[in-house]
Amino acid sequence: MKFFSQKLLIWYDRYKRDLPWRRTKDPYHIWVSEVMLQQTTVNAVIPYYKRWFKTYPTVFDLAQAPLQQVLKSWQGLGYYNRARNLHKAASMVVCDYQGQWPQDYQTVRRLPGFGPYTAGSVLSIAFDQPLVIIDANIRRVVMRLMAIKAHADTRQDKTIEKFLRKIFPLTRAGDFNQALMELGALVCRNKEPLCNLCPLKKFCKAYTKGWQEIIPTPKKKIIQDIHAAIAIIQRQGRYFLQKRPSRGLLADLWEFPGGKLNHKESQKEALSRELKEELGVDLKNAHYLFDVTHFYTQFRVKLSVWQCILKKYPPTDPRHQWVSFKGFSNYPMPSGSAKIVDRIRTHLTNAAKTI
Ligand code: SF4
Repeated sequence: MKFFSQKLLIWYDRYKRDLPWRRTKDPYHIWVSEVMLQQTTVNAVIPYYKRWFKTYPTVFDLAQAPLQQVLKSWQGLGYYNRARNLHKAASMVVCDYQGQWPQDYQTVRRLPGFGPYTAGSVLSIAFDQPLVIIDANIRRVVMRLMAIKAHADTRQDKTIEKFLRKIFPLTRAGDFNQALMELGALVCRNKEPLCNLCPLKKFCKAYTKGWQEIIPTPKKKIIQDIHAAIAIIQRQGRYFLQKRPSRGLLADLWEFPGGKLNHKESQKEALSRELKEELGVDLKNAHYLFDVTHFYTQFRVKLSVWQCILKKYPPTDPRHQWVSFKGFSNYPMPSGSAKIVDRIRTHLTNAAKTI
């Protein structure tokens, strides 16, 4: 078992990627990187990580920032509750612990957004605490090492944890956890694992049995298609935006009005209905502009965008605002709405060139 962790750590020291969050042991940096990396690829995270620490260099800066600004900084990473929890937890670290990171596992677990994975990764990487963590990469690697033929989900975690406790090294806890994740990302990949390059192949039951391609058992993905009609309403060079409810999907983000098409409903009918239901206004005329498509984990959303003329303008209040094109940069938006803004930008740039 000692030999196992030694082999893995030697491999890690030699082949690990030079990633910005690996150059520090600061728990604030480790925490932000771990939260960003959940559900997001390393390459996508790097520019966000760099921008984040320019905007919020310390946990005090994050705690003091307005939530809307934090959500804007998060725009494009998705799962916005993660940003909301970062903001809340930063305030708690500042108010309850004077900005000093708590090191007791149970205390850390009480911070918003700190499940076993986040607490274990921050404490093991920043403070070298011997805590086992399980993410998707570690789960897949261990399932293959143990030749567990099943779907990769949390039902396997008790067995995986037991296995990891047996092989956990006495020192370099954080490096060991990161080494397993790195092995999963670079070598023991979901598809086409590179077993010939693997430092653990001697210990791997899946490799011995030739099962590495069939573990874990693949899941059937059910993707739901959603079609929505979206209204661009303009007034004196400003665009109408509304804030989503404070609870539920994409809470508190800003978007253009509109919504899902009902069964057998045309796009214009959907626009009319949504504008009446959401804003109490009547549609006078609508001119089709373009479509954008966005993929969420379980949805594929097509947004058909229409320039809308209304019989009267909708009322404004703190959740309904007219925003200039430049002002969009202050409004956190779901990725679909951000794509619409990009298309409007292209449209405006092309229009300016033709003048
Ligand atoms: S030998 Fe292959 S299947 Fe086994 S841990 Fe290494 S890469 Fe994964």
